[in-house]
Amino acid sequence: MPQVHQHNYDVVIVGAGGAGMRAALESSSRVRTAVLTKLYPTRSHTGAAQGGMCAALANVEEDNWEWHTFDTVKGGDYLVDQDAAEVMCREAIDAVIDLEKMGLPFNRTPEGRIDQRRFGGHTRNHGEAAVRRSCFAADRTGHMILQTLYQNCVKQDVQFFNEFYVLDLIVQDGHAAGAVAYELATGDIHVFAAKAVILATGGFGKVFKTTSNAHTLTGDGMGIIWRKGLPLEDMEFFQFHPTGLAGLGILLSEAARGEGGILRNADGERFMERYAPTIKDLAPRDIVARSMANEVREGRGAGPEKDYVLLDLTHLPREQIDAKLPDITEFARTYLGVEPYTEPVPVYPTAHYAMGGVPTNIRAEVLGNNTEVVPGLYAAGEVACVSVHGSNRLGTNSLLDINVFGRRAGIAAAEYAATHSHVGLPVGAQGTVTAMVSTLLESTGTERVATLRAKMQSTMDRNAQVYRTDASLKQAEEDIAALKQRYANVSISDKGKRFNSDLLEAIELGFLLDLAEVLVVGARARNESRGGHFREDYPNRDDVNFMRHTMAYREGDGAIRLDYKPVVQTRYQPMERKY
Ligand SMILES: Cc1cc2nc3c(=O)[nH]c(=O)nc-3n(C[C@H](O)[C@H](O)[C@H](O)COP(=O)(O)OP(=O)(O)OC[C@H]3O[C@@H](n4cnc5c(N)ncnc54)[C@H](O)[C@@H]3O)c2cc1C
Repeated sequence: MPQVHQHNYDVVIVGAGGAGMRAALESSSRVRTAVLTKLYPTRSHTGAAQGGMCAALANVEEDNWEWHTFDTVKGGDYLVDQDAAEVMCREAIDAVIDLEKMGLPFNRTPEGRIDQRRFGGHTRNHGEAAVRRSCFAADRTGHMILQTLYQNCVKQDVQFFNEFYVLDLIVQDGHAAGAVAYELATGDIHVFAAKAVILATGGFGKVFKTTSNAHTLTGDGMGIIWRKGLPLEDMEFFQFHPTGLAGLGILLSEAARGEGGILRNADGERFMERYAPTIKDLAPRDIVARSMANEVREGRGAGPEKDYVLLDLTHLPREQIDAKLPDITEFARTYLGVEPYTEPVPVYPTAHYAMGGVPTNIRAEVLGNNTEVVPGLYAAGEVACVSVHGSNRLGTNSLLDINVFGRRAGIAAAEYAATHSHVGLPVGAQGTVTAMVSTLLESTGTERVATLRAKMQSTMDRNAQVYRTDASLKQAEEDIAALKQRYANVSISDKGKRFNSDLLEAIELGFLLDLAEVLVVGARARNESRGGHFREDYPNRDDVNFMRHTMAYREGDGAIRLDYKPVVQTRYQPMERKY
């Protein structure tokens, strides 16, 4: 039996990416706070973010937060909860300035202001033309945010538990009461009692094969919530970023197009002029990704297999490429052997961002159904669905989301903890995790984790990607169901206690399979096309029947029940989405 340790805190934060650390800065200055993270904090995926974080600072062009709100709502194809978008866009300005004061080295204008550049879907005066709204530190914005937040956490003596994998949430009498973690170095189990818990565990891009997401983005936070019988919202909406390196999925930031890069087909045509005549290559990601896929399907793809399009930066001055896009041009050289100064780069859409997740309100409180909160439970960042991104996130709105709602979650959880006492832990709080671990360690099954993961990713890429139909989703649903059965017979080779990544990958695959199933079932039921969800058999948006959020629940027998929740509308009525 593994050794079990007990801990007691006011607030426990699960995850040390941008959202988790922004929350920690607020919470730890108010109450006793622990941050549990499966990765060393500065290895979190926030550090891979490239292009920028937007706020209507109006440093280089006229801008205001209301235009930003409108773009976010329209970009999200009107599935955005408009109260949440207003909060995010209004608080964006302070969020950037807070980071600047913490020491983040943003790029500057010659006058010394924070510089800003264009990004897809961000416009002046409700769609007139592209606007410069994204603040950036070259193409390493996420890296700088993560390092800045980490340094400030160290300065503030935030208590981190690194390489602690949280595998279960403790819920007592309907209240969040703590979390249970597996310590990678020792195989010991740690039970953390807490008055409030914040989930900040990031996304689940690893359900797909072609993805920009890190190996560790396995949706553990969503998976844990799901197994507790709590709902997940809008899981069918997954964003495919237009410019992944062809065949690899490694991201080339939209900043490349923000700086003037152009997408071309095999004939050299700037095809986005046909699909989005006003803002062309800077249309929102769902539109650009679909246009690219369409060029390839209609035979205008480039390369020997005609299966990608080209991102052309060759007309940009070399100094601009070196100063503003140094990392991503290096990726093109390293991984594809292409020289972006002189040659266009092969690109194709890559699974990038989960718009759905754990339902929350604007105070970052987690919802247990359409309206009621789970006392003491909070979520922020990519794990959460607040929903500021609706059915399609605009570029640079996620680094903003994690800062705005990470901060809100930290404050709200600390205030809750300061005014409530511990609800107490149930007997054997570690039971679920010890059973999960021992079942896998003792299994003599014949299935391998890597095989099942590869099959899951391949059916998701084939059947639930940029284009979907009822038939393709049905195929994915059947494949996932079969894989879940096989998963029950999985075994691992490493039976040891120290650094058993074999064991953790097996557990992560369990979460991924659950989430893949929720995604596909939600997508099959949504007989319309909206944002990142495009159904060839229902190519139009259907506001009469589907202008509503999907709420998925896991029933006692494991079956999925779908319910729906209205979209919060404040000032914008749905319009046709032209760019
Ligand atoms: C390549 C790339 C480029 C991007 N570029 C941009 C950009 O330019 N602008 C923009 O706005 N957005 C961008 N995004 C999106 C954005 O970076 C992410 O959505 C955002 O950083 C997510 O932050 P987070 O704090 O929610 O999660 P993450 O940064 O992913 O952190 C998750 C944390 O949770 C922890 N964790 C997970 N599971 C567990 C567990 N079981 N137990 C304990 N800890 C756990 C991890 O250790 C980690 O610390 C990009 C994304 C990618 C992949």
